[in-house]
Amino acid sequence: MPQTLDGSHFPVVVVGGGQAGLSASYCLRERGIAHVVLEANQVGHEWRTRRWDSFCLVTPNWQCRLPGFPYGGPDPDGFMVRDEVVRYLEEYVSFFQPPLVEGVRVDRLRRSATGLFELSTSAGAVTADQVVVATGPYHSPSVPRMAERLRGDVIQIHSCQYQSPEQLPDGAVLVVGTGQSGCQIAEDLHLAGRQVHLAVGGAPRVARFYRGRDCVAWLDDMGHYAKGIDEFSDADAVRLRVNHYVTGRDGGRDIDLRAFAKDGMRLYGRLVDVHGSTLAFAGDLKANLDRADAVAESIKDSIDAYIAARGIEAPTEARYVPVWEPDDSQPSTVDTRSAGIASVIWSTGFTRDHGWIGVPVFDGRGYPMHWRGVTSCPGLYFLGLPWQHSWGSGRFEAVGRDAEFLADHVDASRRLADVCGVLTGAPATLGVALPVG
Ligand SMILES: Cc1cc2nc3c(=O)[nH]c(=O)nc-3n(C[C@H](O)[C@H](O)[C@H](O)COP(=O)(O)OP(=O)(O)OC[C@H]3O[C@@H](n4cnc5c(N)ncnc54)[C@H](O)[C@@H]3O)c2cc1C
Repeated sequence: MPQTLDGSHFPVVVVGGGQAGLSASYCLRERGIAHVVLEANQVGHEWRTRRWDSFCLVTPNWQCRLPGFPYGGPDPDGFMVRDEVVRYLEEYVSFFQPPLVEGVRVDRLRRSATGLFELSTSAGAVTADQVVVATGPYHSPSVPRMAERLRGDVIQIHSCQYQSPEQLPDGAVLVVGTGQSGCQIAEDLHLAGRQVHLAVGGAPRVARFYRGRDCVAWLDDMGHYAKGIDEFSDADAVRLRVNHYVTGRDGGRDIDLRAFAKDGMRLYGRLVDVHGSTLAFAGDLKANLDRADAVAESIKDSIDAYIAARGIEAPTEARYVPVWEPDDSQPSTVDTRSAGIASVIWSTGFTRDHGWIGVPVFDGRGYPMHWRGVTSCPGLYFLGLPWQHSWGSGRFEAVGRDAEFLADHVDASRRLADVCGVLTGAPATLGVALPVG
């Protein structure tokens, strides 16, 4: 039973104790700002419960740079497996001992007429001068409603529920979606000897290594990860972009869907309809594979240009040649019974759920309106959103940089409030007058 917090007041409440919430806590501590971190479950909950058994990071370990606690293990160029990621977070907690309360969910957040934040939590009512929402980028599993028409004898799960091939009934598996999760789960099943049917979407891919180094290392040198969202003319579209597929498994390698197909995996275009046992696919498989390869090759082009411009000594490398092509015999429908498909894994992403936040800072899609995590409501911040500021904002790479920025802002607001003689929010003459939530 969690301790009761009923009636407590904190200068800052951080909601969520994942890598973002912990980073915020570290940076607030550094600035001497009293706060509490409320975590609904346990530190590392997402990594513990929503990643499969063979999961490993796609980003190299050296990119894990939580504030004050960069990866210090023996394999900076490697890719931590799931349990190592959980341990990294646990060690971070041991390292700086944040004021963390686990097992406390914030069910409702509103702003009172005086500008004080009121949080209804599973451990009682709490108030705060400032709040950092760090509840993660991926909330509710998103499954297209056509799933409701699939025959009842086919087991359906979302990628966040997938653990291992053994968890599924015998038989073939349909994986829907080729973002990072879909591709890695398809590979996991394929390596385990399962017959995999894969509905291929429009996600791009990137090679793991090129010209002697991890592509991530080249892109880092090229300043790719330092580029802020404000530098893009299509910021909105950038925020919605699907991640490139690649894997860190076994030291890292490409994910080449064509090679899987050559090896017996069945590839199709996007899944567009389901009727009982009939699955219908779009005719876009070739276009999707070609586009993914084109993106991977264009990234290599930019690395080549960078190497040439700086006269860097790097081994040359032959370009990718497609090892398989879909032909005219590619079916547009598949019958689950005759194909022996016993389960479906929807690797179709997540939606965000900020419904518990009763402060009007959201746009028409329910996305928080912010600049670098600072909202128009004085004292309310977000941390850990994908592309909050840069590519690594929703990842280990830059969540710390964003946390530093926010902590400075929290500190400045606090000092301003002190100077102006008010303790909550910003004075009306300096802040944006908002309706109370
Ligand atoms: C499949 C997958 C693979 C990924 N691979 C990589 C990778 O290779 N490299 C990389 O850098 N990133 C990767 N990421 C992205 C990112 O690192 C993770 O999503 C990470 O979990 C985000 O950390 P976070 O702290 O922002 O959010 P989370 O880890 O989601 O933590 C949020 C915490 O908030 C708690 N919480 C939620 N709501 C409430 C509430 N109302 N009250 C109290 N607590 C609450 C939750 O219990 C949770 O512990 C991956 C993500 C996914 C989904």
